[in-house]
Amino acid sequence: MAVTVSQTQVRSILTRTSGFLRTVCSHSLQPYQGCSFGSALCGIGCYVRHNGLLTRGRAWGSFLEVRTNAADAYQRQVVVERRWARRNGHFSIFLSSSTDPFVPQEKKYGVTAAILAAMCDMPPDELILQTHSHTIAQYVDRLTTLAAVCNLRVHISIESDRDTLPGLPAPASSVDRRFAAAALLRAAGIRVVITSAPLLPIADPEAFFGRIAAHADAVVIDHFIGGDGSSKGSRTRRTSLPQAMASVDAACTDLAYRDRMVDIARRHLPGRVGVSVDGFAGRFLLP
Ligand code: SF4
Repeated sequence: MAVTVSQTQVRSILTRTSGFLRTVCSHSLQPYQGCSFGSALCGIGCYVRHNGLLTRGRAWGSFLEVRTNAADAYQRQVVVERRWARRNGHFSIFLSSSTDPFVPQEKKYGVTAAILAAMCDMPPDELILQTHSHTIAQYVDRLTTLAAVCNLRVHISIESDRDTLPGLPAPASSVDRRFAAAALLRAAGIRVVITSAPLLPIADPEAFFGRIAAHADAVVIDHFIGGDGSSKGSRTRRTSLPQAMASVDAACTDLAYRDRMVDIARRHLPGRVGVSVDGFAGRFLLP
C-alpha cells in the first residue's frame, strides 16, 4: 500500500496519559501521526488501527503525518509538563504508543532524532522508546548519551520467532535484524526489553526465550485477549490475525497460550518477565 506522507506543525507534543498507559508513564509522545508500518505484519494486529478519531476513515498504513516541529514543541512544553508530572511521581515518556519512532521516513525528516537531541539537553526522568524497527541501532551514540542523563529503556517488539504467518504481509524488520539491534544496544550498556505483544505463535519457545535472555534485559508478554483494549480481544478478532495465528497453532488464540509462554519465559529470565500493562510499566513477576 502506498503511504501518503504529509507535513504538519503541532501546538503540543507531550500528551498526559490516560487509559492503558496511565500506570506506565506520565506522558506519551508521537513524532508522527499514522504509521508507515501499518501495512506490515505488525500493522494487522495493531491496536491503533481501530482508533477512528486518528484514522478518520483512512486505511491504517496508508498515511503518515510528519510533525516537523516536534522537537521545538517538546522544548516549549517540557518545563511545565515535568513540574506537573513530578507532583504525582516522575516525568516519564512513552515514545511512541500510536506510531513508530523509526519509520523509514525518519531517515529523511529526522523528527525522532531531533526529539532525542532535545531530550539530551532537557531530559525526562524516564524514557521508554518502543519500536518495531532494527534501525534504532543506528542511534546508539545518541541513546548512550541519553542513558547517562535519564532512565532509558528501549523496547524492541519481537512477537515470535517466525518472520511470517500464512496470508499476512512480511514484518517491517526481520526477527534476526531486531535481535541484532537488541544485542548491539545492550552491548553499549543500554537497557533493552523485548516486547512480545501481541504474542504470536512461537515455533520453538525454549529457543526463543533463551535467545531473548541472551540479548535483552527483560521480556514483556501480552496477548491480544486482554491487550487490545477490547472485551475478550473482540477488536483483533475483526482482523485476519487470529485466523492466521490459528492456522499454524490452533491453541495460540487462547489466553492459556500466553500463560504457557510466560511459564517458559520465567525459566529463562527469572524476575525479568512482565505481563501486559505491568510489563510495559517495568513491573516484573517475581522469580
Ligand atoms: S509499528 Fe507499531 S504503531 Fe506502527 S503499525 Fe506496527 S504496531 Fe502499529
